[in-house]
Amino acid sequence: MASNQDIDLLLKDKMLSGDLKEIAQKVMDTQRISNEDALVLFEKGSLDFLGTLANHVRESKHGDTTYFNRNFHIEPTNICLYTCSFCSYSRLIKKREEGWEYTMDDIMEIVRSMMINLLLKFILLVVYCHNTM
Ligand code: SF4
Repeated sequence: MASNQDIDLLLKDKMLSGDLKEIAQKVMDTQRISNEDALVLFEKGSLDFLGTLANHVRESKHGDTTYFNRNFHIEPTNICLYTCSFCSYSRLIKKREEGWEYTMDDIMEIVRSMMINLLLKFILLVVYCHNTM
């Protein structure tokens, strides 16, 4: 299998640190990685390295078949009652002119237009805290 060859190459890479090689070996041996391993991957693992490990796991489970979905969110409004400190999305009721509110007809029109363009699997309707709709 091609991904085994990719991990073999990683394991032979003289530039790769010992801890990353140990993790690659675990992945190749289908062992679960630890929290400490995850931290090492976060701190030292390049995107290529992580991608190679992830592709190995994917191919070992699904062969050459790749599954994915395309979806879209319909957010009926961005007018929210709350002021969560991390939120850059909400427009408070008092800033209503900066926000949007879709009607049910608006939402159905968005769905129709997206169904024409996509093989639609999911519609995620996100509803925020809004007591005046
Ligand atoms: S939209 Fe969600 S995250 Fe943002 S202020 Fe409202 S409740 Fe908080």
